[in-house]
Amino acid sequence: MAKKTVGQIVTRPGRLPSDPPVTIPIPENLMTVPGAPVRQNEVDFYSREYPIESQNVDYSADRQWAMTVLTPEAYEHRKDHERINAPLVAAARHTGDIEPTVAPNPEIDPKELTETIRQKAREMGFAEVGFTYLNRDYIYKSKKRWIRFDHVMCLAMEQEYEPTQTIPSMAAEHTHFGTYETEGAVALELADWMRALGYHAQVHSPNDNSGAYIPMFVQAGLGQLGANGQLLSPHFGSRARIMMISTDAPVVYDDPVDYGIHKFCQECQVCVQRCPARALMKEKIWYRGAEKNKLIYKRCRPVMARYLGCGICMKVCPIQKFGLQAVMEHYVETGGEILGKGTHNLEGYTLEDKGYFGPGELPTFDPEIFDMPHGKVEDVLFEDLKDKLLSNQIVEGAEGDLVLRDFAHKVKDYVKTHDMNWEKYGEEA
Ligand code: SF4
Ligand code: SF4
Repeated sequence: MAKKTVGQIVTRPGRLPSDPPVTIPIPENLMTVPGAPVRQNEVDFYSREYPIESQNVDYSADRQWAMTVLTPEAYEHRKDHERINAPLVAAARHTGDIEPTVAPNPEIDPKELTETIRQKAREMGFAEVGFTYLNRDYIYKSKKRWIRFDHVMCLAMEQEYEPTQTIPSMAAEHTHFGTYETEGAVALELADWMRALGYHAQVHSPNDNSGAYIPMFVQAGLGQLGANGQLLSPHFGSRARIMMISTDAPVVYDDPVDYGIHKFCQECQVCVQRCPARALMKEKIWYRGAEKNKLIYKRCRPVMARYLGCGICMKVCPIQKFGLQAVMEHYVETGGEILGKGTHNLEGYTLEDKGYFGPGELPTFDPEIFDMPHGKVEDVLFEDLKDKLLSNQIVEGAEGDLVLRDFAHKVKDYVKTHDMNWEKYGEEA
């Protein structure tokens, strides 16, 4: 096949601060728009009328349920992660209130300041660093009042390569959660450093997200959205574990980039074809003002919970495995081939109780595997109470009172232990 014509060359900083910049050829036939196709009037409408909310709030019932179907080893590991993570999340929550330790230099050149901060963040371990405005359209309803500052630094830390290729596995879970723990701690140090330059710095924890971060990463030029629903960053694709720091430092914003990913995914489709739960959509749809391949959550979640976080859609992505430069060079040279597609190396995976699945092979599941509670914990408890009422299981008198008291206790316990006071925090602060 004839080579593809290159439409533009994108130059990006090297993967490590000491690496030279890389150049990525973007085939002309894959080019669409810098960043993401968006209908701003629809984004505005949905964010105003139906603001997004954190999974921790809207999907609390299945989050709680997921802990009950983990393997004992995965359960222990998750508990360890929570123990390590809890102080990091608690510390991040209050970072917006901490005052800078000095006055900022009024003479500073914003461009120079931006590059100084970027360099520091890269030296501290964030391989991808970009700046943009804090887009309130993508901030969760319960966190809107928590947000203090208008500029964001988008930070991506690379999850280790080797264990990621063994997904789904405990080794992959260790690097997945371990990367979040590392970046959660490093970001607190980076915020301290920014305060010593004279600026506020509010840490948006990767384990207690304040919104949908990907659109801001795309706006800051750090990648584009893949068909697997993940940010595909140039060096390590979806192995990017992302978080943000918002600030009042007068930084200069980066521009969104057209990496060709929006169209490339439609030709690649490896994640769509390899997803064991059939949870990824082949075609793109317009959803809340964005054109994307929408993930079907209720199919993904049960498989993810039972199979060590699954993540097969991350593992089989050629951009994760080979990097965007190699993938696009191969596509151009071969006239449109997808690097690694159809190979066991890229597409193969093993599910613990089902065995190995190579290209073209998928596991099957009993339909019951997809049964799980939906929505909020308190709603599920209420539905249960309603069922009991309608089926006359709640009788008048002491026995009935006991059931009602049990319901009230369960709701109270849940609300207390899961700290659902974000809005209250915003009002008090
Ligand atoms: S995590 Fe697994 S089940 Fe969920 S979309 Fe990815 S491949 Fe499918
Ligand atoms: S596997 Fe292919 S289709 Fe899926 S996100 Fe990666 S590049 Fe896009």
